[in-house]
Amino acid sequence: MTLENRYKPRIALFDTDKKWLCSAARAVNLNRSYELDWVIDLSFIMDRFIDTTRCLGISSNNIFWNKTDVPLRIMYVPHPVYEKYVTLVNPEIKEMSRRTFESVEGCAAFPNKGFRVRRSCYVRLSGFAMRNYELKPVELEYGTDEKILSPKNRNLFETAWIVQHELDHLEGILLKDKAVSSFEVDE
Ligand SMILES: [Zn+2]
Repeated sequence: MTLENRYKPRIALFDTDKKWLCSAARAVNLNRSYELDWVIDLSFIMDRFIDTTRCLGISSNNIFWNKTDVPLRIMYVPHPVYEKYVTLVNPEIKEMSRRTFESVEGCAAFPNKGFRVRRSCYVRLSGFAMRNYELKPVELEYGTDEKILSPKNRNLFETAWIVQHELDHLEGILLKDKAVSSFEVDE
């Protein structure tokens, strides 16, 4: 059976899946093997959505499926060091810089909308990264608190806002409630 048939996953839209999007994701129970299977399967589903949409990161809240009543605490985001994506399970913020920057973001839940939102320049996370179908505890740093805005820092800021955007999703927080302003985007 394909993942599509098994889980009936779809991109959650604010207009139709508000409750799902606004639910706080629940932590994955790492002692239950069937929940680890969900992590593996959701990783594949997320990877496919990253390939077929313009999303730069994705969280369980973005994907409605028939397996759980609320989203699971899982996000699929760029790795801060390597040029690849990583599945992070039960991510928690350990540190966030007080310094912020304004980022311009889109969101799969709001097609054709753009948002301006303030994000921390630096964030440090803990969680479990999936590698070879196993979860390993990790601590990852995104962004920089350095004042100089170099082209390199601009890339760092992009991954920094992506993880903060997805972490917000896991708390049920949406851009429309957090953004400084929003605007329409043409297809
Ligand atoms: Zn989003």
